[in-house]
Amino acid sequence: MDLHADTMTGRKRIAVVTGGCGFLGSHLTDRLLAAGFRVIGIDNLVTGSPRNIEHLAGNVDFEFVEHDVSRFIEVPGEVEIVFHFASPASPIDYLELPIQTLKVGGLGTHNALGLARAKEAAFFLASTSEVYGDPLVHPQTEDYWGNVNPIGVRGVYDEAKRYAEALTMAYHRSHGIDTKIVRIFNTYGPRMRLDDGRVVPAFIGQALRGEPLTIFGDGSQTRSFCYVDDLIEGIYRLSQSAYHEPVNLGNPREMTIREFAEAVLELTGASLPLVHQGLPADDPKVRRPDISRAKSVLQWEPKVAFEEGLQKTLDYFRAYVDRAQGSLRVKK
Ligand code: UDP
Repeated sequence: MDLHADTMTGRKRIAVVTGGCGFLGSHLTDRLLAAGFRVIGIDNLVTGSPRNIEHLAGNVDFEFVEHDVSRFIEVPGEVEIVFHFASPASPIDYLELPIQTLKVGGLGTHNALGLARAKEAAFFLASTSEVYGDPLVHPQTEDYWGNVNPIGVRGVYDEAKRYAEALTMAYHRSHGIDTKIVRIFNTYGPRMRLDDGRVVPAFIGQALRGEPLTIFGDGSQTRSFCYVDDLIEGIYRLSQSAYHEPVNLGNPREMTIREFAEAVLELTGASLPLVHQGLPADDPKVRRPDISRAKSVLQWEPKVAFEEGLQKTLDYFRAYVDRAQGSLRVKK
């Protein structure tokens, strides 16, 4: 008997993952393959990297299709679930790619929902804590509607994801699609891009290069960092549930960006100055997920301690750094 086959039909369960070469899309792909799915990963490689799936070369259960999901998505055969993870996701990326970000959240979500509908498949939307904007409710619960500047520079991402959530609920209500929505809070771990501008790779990269750590603003703004393995477990559980309302997933351990910088220095043993730079427009002052819903619906909560996750991430980045060059260089 094929252990990976659906026991009722004897056929493989098939999942489509848009953004399959991204940080989260590639980890999700690994989790789905381990659970016995066949996975079709789709990515236009604008921010994703083929390196994130190179370990899957030769895996007969994995197929990669290079395609921009803001254009019509064609997938032959049956599909059980469509995971829509494609989008620039770091502030630097979506500031550089504002129109692509709006398109993949709007047109891309529409195409991915259309695919799910055509295949009578379930649909899973990767949404974000950015739907809460610069929040006036703390910690953030799913029933908080948020405080977003629609015409600000971050608006391209925030509003695209808010629209994506609205479209997902409309397909659920109008077409009866089995949809799920996760709101992902700051997540870190191996396969992040060292140059994506987010604070975790930024500070680790700076510490490894022996450069000052760049704190934006006074560093009193807070974030709550979740290790990728914890997040992916929550995503997998939500995908297998029949729950349609949005669910926050993240680690409720909150810290200031200054505390985070100090933790990176302590872990790397580096003694480097902290320098202050201007705070980007609309940078949220606080962020911490209320995960009561995930606890009760999914019996999920993060397990990986911050220090342990940070160490694993540091080990990953170290492997790609050639310090002798005095600059970060990807090892061939
Ligand atoms: N940040 C910083 N220095 C950096 C990069 C980011 O102080 O080199 C700050 C940023 O202003 C924000 C926080 O770190 O307050 C988290 O930023 P990130 O880009 O990781 O994601 P965000 O949570 O803002 O989406």
